[in-house]
Parts: sequence; C-alpha cells; structure tokens
Amino acid sequence: MISRDGGLLVFDYYHKLTAAQQAVYRRSDAITHVALRRHRGLNARVTALHVALQAGRYGWVASDSRALLTGLTEQLGVPRVRVKVLAVRPHDDWGELHGMYEPGEGRRMACVTLWMCTAKRQQVVAFRTFLRTLLHELCHHLDYLLYKLDDSYHTEGFYQREASLFRQLVPQSDKRVMERSRRERI
Ligand SMILES: [Zn+2]
Repeated sequence: MISRDGGLLVFDYYHKLTAAQQAVYRRSDAITHVALRRHRGLNARVTALHVALQAGRYGWVASDSRALLTGLTEQLGVPRVRVKVLAVRPHDDWGELHGMYEPGEGRRMACVTLWMCTAKRQQVVAFRTFLRTLLHELCHHLDYLLYKLDDSYHTEGFYQREASLFRQLVPQSDKRVMERSRRERI
C-alpha cells in the first residue's frame, strides 16, 4: 500500500523505518532512471536470452543471463555479480520466489539467483518476466555499488529504475518480441 508522507508517496513500511533508513529510502526514491549507452552487444545478449528461454535450454539460459549481467555491470562500471540459474522456483504460502540478490561480503562476490521454471506448472518462465527479474536483482546490486546506498529498498524510484532498464533493452519498436512474451506469460 502507498501513503503520503509530506510531499512524498511512500510504501507503508516506510513509517516503520528509522530516521536514517527513511533518508536512504528517500535517496533511493529520487533516482528514477538508469542510463545505458546504446550498445548493440547488449541487445544481442537480450535476444540470445529470449531464444534460450523459448527453447527451454537450461545451459543457454544460464550462460546468456551471465553474459547479459556481465555486459550491464561492465557498462555501468560496477563490480561483476555471480549468476546462478536454478530450475523450479521455491514456493510457499507467500507465493513463488522469482529471483534473489545476495550482497557481496569481503572477498565473496555478490550473487544473483534466478529461477527458470514456475513452481505451479513447472513451465519455463516467460521472457519478459525473466528479464524483469534479472533487472530487478541488478537494481539491488546498483543500489549498493553504484548509488552507495546503505540498504536497498523497494521504492517507487527503484521500480522506475528497473522499468527504465527494461525499456532500453527491449525497445518499443520490437513489438513482435513483446507480443509473443505477453502471450507466453503465465
Ligand atoms: Zn527485490
């Protein structure tokens, strides 16, 4: 749920944060865009990932996810992440886990985990959903290492950053891909 705090629209959990945490939240909320340079290599990696998911090839999805995240971290000038792609999403009463980000610690690299199949019907996740999850986890990484925030909150700004990356990697002109992934959506 969203409520108003002064001039700011905030998620309800904002009110439970300490003053220092609220300051981090507001900084996160104020950043609404991640600018990527046009880069044909990145677009090719997105296309490769789309093909891999459509083919349902686990090995391809893993290596294409890794290649895409490596390309994005290189371009944005932040340390690389480890990428793990696993088969069926963990699930419970709360729903299904799409992805997970674990910050690095000491010499241990940060790690992004992505799940390739839905828990319910064990079908391969739609391209759009999979890519959004990958970018969502990347945004957590950017919060710590690009924006140097002490914590990574789900703010409006956070979701706008995720959406801005998606729009740049899947331009509107590529309607065909978007339509297909919408039909595939589970
Ligand atoms: Zn998250």
